[in-house]
Amino acid sequence: MGLKNNISGSSFDGVAVTDELGRLEFSNDSFFEIIGLPGEELIDKCFMEVIPEDMRDLLERWRQTGTDMLYETKIMARNGEEKNLYISCARAEFDGTKKYVITIKDISEQKKLESNLRESEARYRELFENADDTMYTFDSKGFFQTINNAGRKALGATLDEIIGSHGSKWIAPDSRKVANERFMKLISGVSLDETAIYEIVCRNGEHKWAELRTRPIKEGAKIIGIHGIARDITEKKRLEEQLKESEAKYRDLFENADDPMFTLDPEGNFIELNDTGLNLLGCIKNEVIGSNISRWMTPESDVNARKAMKKRINGEQVDLPTILEMVSKNGEHRWVEVKSRILKDGNRIKGLHGIARDITEKRRMEQKLIKYHEILKKNEEKYKDLFENAYDPMYTLDLHGNFQKINNAGLKVLGGTLEETIGSHISRWLTPQSYKEATERLKNIASDIQVSESIVYELVLKNGEHRWAEIRNRAIKERGKITGFHGIARDVTEKIKLEKQLKEFNQKLERSYEELKESESKYFELFENANDGIYTHDTEGHFLTVNNAGLKILGCATKDEVIGSNISRWLTPESFEIARKIIMKYLSGEPVNQPIILEIIRKNDEHRFLEFRNRIIRDNDRIIAIHGIARDVTEKRKMEQQLKEYHGKLQKSYEELKEADRLKTEFISNITHELLTPLTSIKGFVELLNDETIGKINDEQKKSLDIVLRNSDRLIQLIKELLDAAYFEQNKFNLKFGMVSINNIISKSLQDMHPQANEKKITIIQDIKPLPEIWADEEKIIQVLSNLLSNAIKFTPQNGMISVTAIDDTNHIKISITDTGIGIPPDKLSRIFDRFYQIDGSTSRKYGGMGIGLSICKSIIEGHYGSIWAESNGNGSTFNVTLPKLIKKKRRIKEHNVKS
Ligand code: ADP
Repeated sequence: MGLKNNISGSSFDGVAVTDELGRLEFSNDSFFEIIGLPGEELIDKCFMEVIPEDMRDLLERWRQTGTDMLYETKIMARNGEEKNLYISCARAEFDGTKKYVITIKDISEQKKLESNLRESEARYRELFENADDTMYTFDSKGFFQTINNAGRKALGATLDEIIGSHGSKWIAPDSRKVANERFMKLISGVSLDETAIYEIVCRNGEHKWAELRTRPIKEGAKIIGIHGIARDITEKKRLEEQLKESEAKYRDLFENADDPMFTLDPEGNFIELNDTGLNLLGCIKNEVIGSNISRWMTPESDVNARKAMKKRINGEQVDLPTILEMVSKNGEHRWVEVKSRILKDGNRIKGLHGIARDITEKRRMEQKLIKYHEILKKNEEKYKDLFENAYDPMYTLDLHGNFQKINNAGLKVLGGTLEETIGSHISRWLTPQSYKEATERLKNIASDIQVSESIVYELVLKNGEHRWAEIRNRAIKERGKITGFHGIARDVTEKIKLEKQLKEFNQKLERSYEELKESESKYFELFENANDGIYTHDTEGHFLTVNNAGLKILGCATKDEVIGSNISRWLTPESFEIARKIIMKYLSGEPVNQPIILEIIRKNDEHRFLEFRNRIIRDNDRIIAIHGIARDVTEKRKMEQQLKEYHGKLQKSYEELKEADRLKTEFISNITHELLTPLTSIKGFVELLNDETIGKINDEQKKSLDIVLRNSDRLIQLIKELLDAAYFEQNKFNLKFGMVSINNIISKSLQDMHPQANEKKITIIQDIKPLPEIWADEEKIIQVLSNLLSNAIKFTPQNGMISVTAIDDTNHIKISITDTGIGIPPDKLSRIFDRFYQIDGSTSRKYGGMGIGLSICKSIIEGHYGSIWAESNGNGSTFNVTLPKLIKKKRRIKEHNVKS
């Protein structure tokens, strides 16, 4: 039991004893409590099997090494708890048997404390090191023991440089004394103010301000050092300094400000008011400070001020600045403009600070200005109204002459719209001349040069019409500077036109007066020297004037003989009667046929005939005289008389001649008939003889009979022609119209001519176009063409040439026959169509013919409404015939009627 006691009495908590084989022989309760096993479970069990594995390994190692030991280990207890243990093992011999003694102590709790302490120390160290404030400790003598990172940084020195140095080394001389005293007090246990402020000197010599909290470090009752925390307040100190400075400045400003400045408490009582403010209220400081501001305001302003203050306190927007009406001590009212701000101490409202500005004068001015403005506005409206509705055109121009404003009357004159006119330049609306004048005038007005009150310009309206306007201009001045021009116009077009007309009229009048004057003298000269007698007499016939020619006509030498005498003295009774009637007609306004021929009796009783032309002379509407011109027509009258007689005779002989011609034609017509009858009979018998019907004839006889026959044929032909001519003369011929082909007619006519042409070896050339059918008498047209061709052959020498052309010439067909014959002199070209006309009388003997053919041709062609004419250039002649393609329907009907 000695062992047991031994063991249980040790400082270890658990004890177990095993034999050499590790079987448990003894254990105290604590042992199994620590490892978490109840004792009953262990009985007869091998100790090594039941103990926790960690411990088992440990014990095994120990058994092998064989040395006693003390281990610190961790085991996992049966209940899962981790435990820190001290384990010690020892061999022992009890009663000659070897035993193992295992003791354990649970150090889990101790371990936990240790680790906590370590952690807290680390934490503390970290805090210490990383604190924003400087932390340090001094020993009892004032030497640095520790200093944290912030401290080192603040001093700008390394740990080595600081630790072991004396605190006073880092304190500025000014603070050293205080610091020393304080340190001594602290060390000796005297309680002090919590904080102190020292001026610190850094390693680089820089000065800083530090606020220190210090407390003694005690070991038991003994003070062994000092612990301190310092804060760098250099910046704060600087700001404080500045604040102090600025406050002083502010106070200065406040006191000396030009504007009233004040501070109110939250109830509105004056805390401060500067001199200007006192002045405004007419008080000394004592009278105002402590009084409420409402005492110095009108009730309305008081309400406004309170409202503004309430808003400001609630943080609402206040219309800046507030305008208040203040009442000074002597009752004078003044207006101030107040800007204020709330003074706060934390969240608490301390009061209100304000600056006022005396705006009484400004306000008075404003009030005046408003009133003035109102008047101005009214005036402007009035003016605008006047401007717009003025009867006269009004406008304003800028300095360059562009329209700025124009009233309705103005627009009406120019004829443009407002848009077209405003901004347009005056040159647009003036003639070049007027524009030049306007520019000059505006320039003068602008330079303050005197100009005429008004000027007349010639305007060019929108529609191009020209009008005249009388313009009055003046400069528009703004603050003494000319900014444009104002103008009033008056339409003077009618006036100008009238003036112009008047001027023209006057000029004309003047001219006509001059002309009159001239013409009067001319007239007088003319009057006196005229070839005709000129005179005037009154309505009763008394001569008023007479010229020289008049005197001469009457056979008088002086005017006295005529002037004053009555016309009856100089006229035959019959002529006077006519003259009297004419005067009556003049007076009653009836028309009078001019000229009038009257018979006069000259002074020497000679009778002469005069031709008179009269006109009446009026004074206003009354006829006062008759003005007349007389010409002696006695000779002319005689000649006329003779001419008339001659004419009568001529007419008579013409009639006689016509009758003779008719008789001649009738005679020719009769005689030819008479000639034709026996001639036909002669021809018949000669043919009988020649045919030997009556009896045989010899060759000599036959030759003679042939001659007789040929000549009688020629004679018959001649007589027929004569007969034809007579018929045409008497218009007794009949044209038998029908639609005929001109091409056919031409070829038929040519056919008949070939023998004649061949005989003289004359070539006939044809150029005949296809021609339309026309309305004509085929036989008669053949007669015309044959005649022309026959003439051409007749007047063309041997081997000559004749060309025949026919063309369709729009409305006509034109046939031309050209020969290379003897030609026709120009003056004979028209005459050859006269009856019996031959250019040369001898031709009939040379060429034969009677000068009838062409006249018959002409009658036939004219009967077809065509024409025939000859041309000749000396180298032969051309005869042209035109025939209308379409004879008008009316004519055709006429012809038709004639035919039937
Ligand atoms: P005549 O029977 O004499 O030929 P016309 O009336 O036919 O009568 O002609 C009148 C005159 O016109 C002719 O005598 C002749 O002098 C002239 N004459 C007519 N045709 C031509 C012609 N082709 N060349 C020259 N003269 C002509």
